[in-house]
Amino acid sequence: MTSAYVGRFAPSPTGLLHAGSLVAALASWLDARANHGRWLVRIEDIDGPRNVAGAAEGILEQLAACGLVADESPLRQSARTALYEAALARLQASGLAYACGCSRRDLELAVAPEAGRARHAELVYPGTCRGGLNGKAERSFRLRTDLVRPGAPGDPVVWTDRRLGPRSEDVATSVGDFVLRRADGVWAYQLAVVVDDADQGVSDIVRGEDLAGNTARQILLQHALRLPTPRYLHTPLVLAASGEKLSKQTGARPLELSRPLDALRAAGGVLGLPAEGTTLAEWLAAGVAAWRERWPLA
Ligand code: GLU
Repeated sequence: MTSAYVGRFAPSPTGLLHAGSLVAALASWLDARANHGRWLVRIEDIDGPRNVAGAAEGILEQLAACGLVADESPLRQSARTALYEAALARLQASGLAYACGCSRRDLELAVAPEAGRARHAELVYPGTCRGGLNGKAERSFRLRTDLVRPGAPGDPVVWTDRRLGPRSEDVATSVGDFVLRRADGVWAYQLAVVVDDADQGVSDIVRGEDLAGNTARQILLQHALRLPTPRYLHTPLVLAASGEKLSKQTGARPLELSRPLDALRAAGGVLGLPAEGTTLAEWLAAGVAAWRERWPLA
């Protein structure tokens, strides 16, 4: 059934779109159009200090210049914290979330000695506060990853990405009890994205491959909250000259609004789409047809 297709592009307003972020925006738009679905834009602005003034409006203008216009007026996560609060309360009531009093330093002391971890590796939370705060002040909230089991007890999270194929991750051992609300009171991306995608009826998540590593955590949270799991397709990344992912840090420049067709052609090239056209509308229509052929929904 494609009638209930709802897709979305969910930029964080930390800067304007560049060639890399346009690929994800275009792919999610093409997939929605190819499946006669709705396409939403959600501004992920919960991490206040990282927001750049005017970036949200700028992103919407860039999208519009490329012919990518949402079917509903864009939501902003900053206006939706009551939903995240309610989700955390539900998880706590069912014993799946708990307050944690560990600082980053506590974690480093608890994890580093026996594990000999690489310097910048993510610290796997050892579950220190599962049994209570032990006199420490409440800082963050975490998910009991050991108690949420989408499959049989002991099974990892398994899912199939439409582009990357079958994936599997045991979140309890790869990340441990991850954060739902940070010590500074900011809602974690994982919680906000899961709550919003379900609340907006999103059936299909099409986004950059740099986010693929979050999918298992998000699926686990969907199970914990008894929410449906969408389909996933992670798009190829645009690399900077250094071979790293193109980002502001690796020198990406904001897309030029004056040449949207060139930007679309470049993004289409990254997605392997043989689309042609001399106007935006022509190119986009050819893009939808090429996308449908390349990435049909199973
Ligand atoms: N707001 C997230 C980001 O810009 C993307 C969220 C998503 O697509 O799941 O990194």
